[in-house]
Amino acid sequence: MNPGENPSSRAPWTRREFLRQTVPVVLAATTISTPAFAAPPKIDTRVALPWYRRTLRWGQTNITEIDPTQYDIGWWRQHWKRTRTQGVVINAGGIVAYYPSTFPLQHRPAALGGRDLYGELARAAHEDGLVVFARMDSNRAHAEFYHAHPDWFALDAGGQPYRAGDLYLSCINSPYYEEYIPAVLREIIERSHPEGITDNSWAGLGRSSICYCAHCQRRFREAAQADLPRQKDWDDPVYRQWILWNYRRRLEVWDLNNRVTRAAGGPDCLWVGMNSGSISGQCASFRDYRAICERAEMIMLDHQSRSDAGGFQNNGEAGKRIHGLLGWEKLIPESMAMYQAGRPTFRLSSKPEPEARMWMLDGIAGGIQPWWHHVGAYHEDRRMYHTAEPVLRWHEANEKYLVNRQPVAAVGVVWSQANTDFYGRDNPDELVELPWCGITNALVRARIPYLPVHADHIDREAPRLQLLVLPHLAAMTDGQVAAVRRFVERGGGLLMTGESSRCDEWGEARPDFALADLLGAHVDGPRRPASLDPAKRRWAIETQHTHLRLEPELRGRVYGPKNGKEPPVAGERHPVLRGFDETDILPFGGMLEPLRLDSAATVLATFIPPFPVYPPETAWMREPRTNIPGLIVRTTAAGSRIAFLPADLDRRFGRDNLPDHGNLLANLVRWTGKDTCPVEVEGPGLIDCHLYQQEDRLILHLVNLTSAGTWRAPVHELIPVGPLRIRVKLTEGVRGGRVQLRVSQHKMTAQVTKGWCRFEIQSIIDHELAVIG
Ligand SMILES: [Zn+2]
Repeated sequence: MNPGENPSSRAPWTRREFLRQTVPVVLAATTISTPAFAAPPKIDTRVALPWYRRTLRWGQTNITEIDPTQYDIGWWRQHWKRTRTQGVVINAGGIVAYYPSTFPLQHRPAALGGRDLYGELARAAHEDGLVVFARMDSNRAHAEFYHAHPDWFALDAGGQPYRAGDLYLSCINSPYYEEYIPAVLREIIERSHPEGITDNSWAGLGRSSICYCAHCQRRFREAAQADLPRQKDWDDPVYRQWILWNYRRRLEVWDLNNRVTRAAGGPDCLWVGMNSGSISGQCASFRDYRAICERAEMIMLDHQSRSDAGGFQNNGEAGKRIHGLLGWEKLIPESMAMYQAGRPTFRLSSKPEPEARMWMLDGIAGGIQPWWHHVGAYHEDRRMYHTAEPVLRWHEANEKYLVNRQPVAAVGVVWSQANTDFYGRDNPDELVELPWCGITNALVRARIPYLPVHADHIDREAPRLQLLVLPHLAAMTDGQVAAVRRFVERGGGLLMTGESSRCDEWGEARPDFALADLLGAHVDGPRRPASLDPAKRRWAIETQHTHLRLEPELRGRVYGPKNGKEPPVAGERHPVLRGFDETDILPFGGMLEPLRLDSAATVLATFIPPFPVYPPETAWMREPRTNIPGLIVRTTAAGSRIAFLPADLDRRFGRDNLPDHGNLLANLVRWTGKDTCPVEVEGPGLIDCHLYQQEDRLILHLVNLTSAGTWRAPVHELIPVGPLRIRVKLTEGVRGGRVQLRVSQHKMTAQVTKGWCRFEIQSIIDHELAVIG
């Protein structure tokens, strides 16, 4: 069965050897002293790490109901060895149990008979020195279970149970989660002693459905002194309370399950659920990422592949975003599909190897630990067994450079889950995620490393950053606004787009931008943000035939006449318009409203309203010039550079991919950040740049995203780029004279001048890891 692989000649690790290992650890301080890029204070020590800090490579054969007849455990043990796997995820219980449970309602597949397949696999893994995660799937059950405990299941407004196909959805406020799941966890731990428990779908009913069962009615009334909302209504304070109440309940379940697993399995027996790489996915299932990371020792990330329109860089970003919440000393294993996942999905067919490999590599570059994932234990498409091995072998050989490191970046892009909930509401894709995607793609394209920064962590991250970017971060608390203000007062740069700071934390309109004084621009008249205005949501969703007129530097209200018949006012173009000398207009696509400006604001682009596309005879500007600003810049007395893009070029670039928009966004980042990018890469190609400091070395991980499939999955063929000329700004304690390339296996001497080191990389096919010491 599953022939075609030669077992590795490498001796397997024994469990004892694995448990005995010691690993060098860098305990990084939580703050880094100014100036930017200074080395973090660190403590070098050698301590035995618990399993959840040292299990760096994972594997999962997701057991299907027919697998008890075809699971060749011996073959898979060899595959664990071939792929240098240190931990496995094994289906135990939940919807389907793969062991002889004392709970008769835990459904067991017919093919299992009396067998303990889960137990056999857990024993084999432990014998081979591997860590075991018992996998649960706890949010639904078969009809028999529902009929035995109908009050444990979620009900709609009409009192009918919510169903998914033949299965019934359990209610997160019922004894199913309070008593039954904890008892199953205890049984699994007592039988097989897994190191931890993970759960595929632990968060109960999603946001799109309201449960009206007796438990929910009673608990909500106690918590909110109100009846459950009858329908979704973002403007209803009771509905908003229902959202927050649901978030709190998931945290209670997280804490309860951890108390249960630790009581049954010891202090290191963790329950870690499963989380998504998508913030709107976390919102839709009430998983509060920041609060979860505050209580988690690790995150098991279910983010298996890119979306059709996304890039591999999305995975590196997921790693950086979650490490920003969790800490860089902790691990984030990520389930990586070896089958064709995404759109379309074919569970038993191999994902194209270059597509799977690049997803893994960019995730690794962002600090994610690889975890191969197959659905089913037997495959006629055997190509998928060859995908993980080379990546995980490389990972093993270079693992010391891939963990316990601190990111180095000058740019922080600010986000919050509440902005996705209360500003994004029913359109998070268009209102929040597209602007995010546009600005971060522009940064990747410009080879500017960046960090996602949670809006509540601005003060904490500020010392390492030169610039904050707020891409349509509309819903902000007063505290978050104050943190941005402090950042600018200390001399930091600021780039804000669209409706940033326009709303309070509920997505309600503020009378003006909360940061209006910094922007030099004010809301003009009784206007509503997109969270409250259907017409503006349509603007965000559609592309209009609009343009921006590039202006010479014009101050305050004094800019060109509205009728467009007078010539433009003479003046020099601002540096952020570099590269656009041969054009006076840019394609735009969005819509703009007038703003009231302070005298210190300089308008660099104005709005040209829509005019017909068809027929071509009509395609002329009816109003070639307005005084509606599209781009405003100013410099504060303290020297901070601030740019405000009322024009939603971040969203436009995310959707339309026009290079003009990406170039202007990159120019704005360079100008507001005073050209402080710590790495420069010269040469053709699209390259995702990740820079880290680790002890007395810098680690530059370059991922080559250049190929015909970069912007559309799956990639068919990898195209090498090079030579690339690299410059890296040295941080405190890094000499920078020696460079090792850990993929192409080259060692070289670098030129060091004025705090920068220079070297050249001849060629990169998929990625290169430069260790600079
Ligand atoms: Zn309920």
